[in-house]
Amino acid sequence: MIDIQGFSNFFVANWKLNGNKTFIEEYFQKLTVNPSNCIVICSPYIYLNQISSHEKNFYLGAQDVSQYKDGPYTGEVSSNMLKDNNIDFCIVGHSERRQLFNETNDVTNIKSSNLINSGVIPIICIGETLDEKEKGITKDILKNQIFRSIPNNANHNNTIIAYEPIWAIGTGLRPTLEDINEVHNFIRSIKTDFQKYKILYGGSVKSTNSNDIIELDNVDGCLIGGASVNVEEFNIIIS
Ligand code: PEP
Repeated sequence: MIDIQGFSNFFVANWKLNGNKTFIEEYFQKLTVNPSNCIVICSPYIYLNQISSHEKNFYLGAQDVSQYKDGPYTGEVSSNMLKDNNIDFCIVGHSERRQLFNETNDVTNIKSSNLINSGVIPIICIGETLDEKEKGITKDILKNQIFRSIPNNANHNNTIIAYEPIWAIGTGLRPTLEDINEVHNFIRSIKTDFQKYKILYGGSVKSTNSNDIIELDNVDGCLIGGASVNVEEFNIIIS
């Protein structure tokens, strides 16, 4: 398993359902990585092996994993299969999977536990909707998601948390820097061990705001969707 405590800054690229073979070749010709940062590229499964042929200082991540270990589950990919293909990270419980594919906290918990047992680091996403934010219940929502999504075998060495307010994903909106720092501080206060967890922020991170976000005391890195598919933009964010 990767020594995540050895890195102070994480930049996780979530390509979502984007990319093709030509795009990947151009992307990795241009990508410039500072090896002191942990860069994780989460492409669609089918391109991970093509991406792994590029010799740059980054890690591979999947965007999802099956909750099952093996057996009659057509179309699924297990945590052991990820490890077998040198995939070191996996996003779990992303809001798009929760909202569009009915992924619950309980399923996120099982997937994360399996990943840890396979030696893959889950990046567990949590976040509130706009409605929940406006009702002032963000902290209750996050606490519930944390208690139910993070498995018993998780610790600060094998798991990363990503705070992604759903209303900020792909919208160009984001919380103020003070709000991000306060929410991350709140997450750290939920359990003693959380003080040492790597906690990332995600939601409309761009080259124009990434520096300010990464400099916040309680933020260890960013999970980047839209801006990570533009390699020039991503190069600025990770530089
Ligand atoms: C995401 O998909 O996790 C995300 C943060 O997307 P975006 O950066 O486009 O808001």
